[in-house]
Amino acid sequence: MAPVPARAYIGLGANLGDGAATLRQVLAELRGLEGVVAVKASPFYRSAPVEAAGPDFINAVAAVDTHLAPLALLDALQALENRHGRQRPYKNAPRTLDLDLLLYGDVAMDHERLSLPHPRMHLRAFVLLPLRDLAPGLVLKGRNIDDWVGEIRDQAIERA
Ligand code: ADP
Ligand code: MG
Repeated sequence: MAPVPARAYIGLGANLGDGAATLRQVLAELRGLEGVVAVKASPFYRSAPVEAAGPDFINAVAAVDTHLAPLALLDALQALENRHGRQRPYKNAPRTLDLDLLLYGDVAMDHERLSLPHPRMHLRAFVLLPLRDLAPGLVLKGRNIDDWVGEIRDQAIERA
């Protein structure tokens, strides 16, 4: 096992059922995962769906220090989604739980199951605001996260 864990950031979202309760439970489950040594959670936000209809989302970001490799971490996230009843009837359908791996250290990869950094994260208020709470000063694609936040237009979001 690598002596130093990697720092990963995970985007959490839910817009079916009690989203805040789901996210609290998932944060506890992340803390219990084998190979995860620490989990810090951002505040929760409420956001309108982007490119989709349906109820508002509850969103948060978790900073996870882990010995799991990127695809092993994705496997664990997808198992959590499934345990929370995630179904995929159509693209951007409402979901009980969505877990996106946003960043894994400074790994850049384009695998059929996993693109890192997450390709749309720098455009989404529901990722950028909670991510900035955990990692102020973070640089994404060569720009400070504050600059990306400043580019956001027409994405309704508030603290939950
Ligand atoms: P979305 O989150 O885009 O609405 P899904 O959660 O259904 O859609 O994910 C679709 C696919 O995206 C998954 O099968 C997963 O393998 C793939 N994927 C690629 N990169 C990532 C990433 N960084 N984090 C999570 N899933 C990813
Ligand atoms: Mg997803």
